[in-house]
Amino acid sequence: MKALMIIADGLGGRPTDYKGKTCLEAANTPNIDELTRQGDTGLLDPIKPGVRPESDTAHLSLFGYDPEEVYTGRGVFEALGMGMDVEEGDVCFRTNFATVDENLIIRDRRASRIQEGQKELEEALGGLKTSQSGVEVLFRASTEHRGALVLRGSGLSDRITDPDPHKTGVKVPKAKPETAEKSAKKTAKIVNELVKKSHEILRDLPLNKKREKEGKLPANILLPRGASMRPSLPSIKELYGIEGVAIAAGALYIGVARAAGLKFKRAEGVTGGFDSPIINKAKLAVKELNEGADFAFVHMKGADSCAHDHDAEGKIAFIEKVDEVIGYFLNNLNWDETHVVFTGDHTTPIVCGDHVSDPVPIVFAGPNVVPDDVGEFNERSVQKGGVGRISGQAVLPLLFGYCDFSKKFGT
Ligand code: ZN
Ligand code: ZN
Repeated sequence: MKALMIIADGLGGRPTDYKGKTCLEAANTPNIDELTRQGDTGLLDPIKPGVRPESDTAHLSLFGYDPEEVYTGRGVFEALGMGMDVEEGDVCFRTNFATVDENLIIRDRRASRIQEGQKELEEALGGLKTSQSGVEVLFRASTEHRGALVLRGSGLSDRITDPDPHKTGVKVPKAKPETAEKSAKKTAKIVNELVKKSHEILRDLPLNKKREKEGKLPANILLPRGASMRPSLPSIKELYGIEGVAIAAGALYIGVARAAGLKFKRAEGVTGGFDSPIINKAKLAVKELNEGADFAFVHMKGADSCAHDHDAEGKIAFIEKVDEVIGYFLNNLNWDETHVVFTGDHTTPIVCGDHVSDPVPIVFAGPNVVPDDVGEFNERSVQKGGVGRISGQAVLPLLFGYCDFSKKFGT
């Protein structure tokens, strides 16, 4: 048997989304509805009822972990998602290239979402070192202003505050220890040293001199945030004895999947943006499942991004792109031996423009699934479905249960 989990980020909505309908109701989704007719449906509380999920905690839950128990912060997932190796004891941060003036007052936290020069910035910060002996500094730039920083060495801690004020017009604050432990003091000291040094390295970089000449904001400081250590998770392979792959574009999703022990596979041309050729993710998932993977996780981001921008038409259009992906799966999966779950990682309503705790529609399909009578996939129709209302941590066990991957409970 094979298992496929398809996640459309921020899929769920509210009746206030678009002319009295949710975006899922407003979208034309013949393929998702066909999957629904073949499947069993219900509502999903990504973490549990009443909890507003972030994408990282929601995905931990969807992979079967209890985020309240294992979540250590976002930095580690960003670092893993950028392909960095994270060892036990490492402290990881997400970073921004930002713009500061000569007094270290922040003018732009994202250096106007710098579009080019990431390689040059990364190479320059290759020289970033701390005077603390035995601590290694690793940095990688990602897209636009994003990057990840990893500190490796003994006696480090993730219990420090961000040296990022999360607003402009104020001076870069110092990272402070959150506990009295020596390790927290030491880590805060290192981070403050690195922020200062990053400015000294970046302010005179030819790339930034050129940007200033062109009237653009220089990327002249590195602001780390979200200090976190690798959570100790048993991998999906350890739990179920199966090999899984992750097909995603955003570093965060790749990172959570890698933390769960899935192998990352890059689909051609995908970006994580609205225009991403997500059909290539479907093609790659079918190929991986045909070539030996027991489980594939496919993540698509666009609907959530549109909802954050209050763009109902964009979200509807992206859901219709997701419908083509489902159509590809309907036509190309080996349905005699594949079980599928399709859902979102949370609800992102258009009016609110952020994640809320409302549940998300979910559908399971495959040869061992008993279909219910629901024929359309949306927030209203699935309330009559056979799955009822479940929490995120039940999703993989239910999917893998249909595939007979699960061990028996009891003796
Ligand atoms: Zn999300
Ligand atoms: Zn979001």
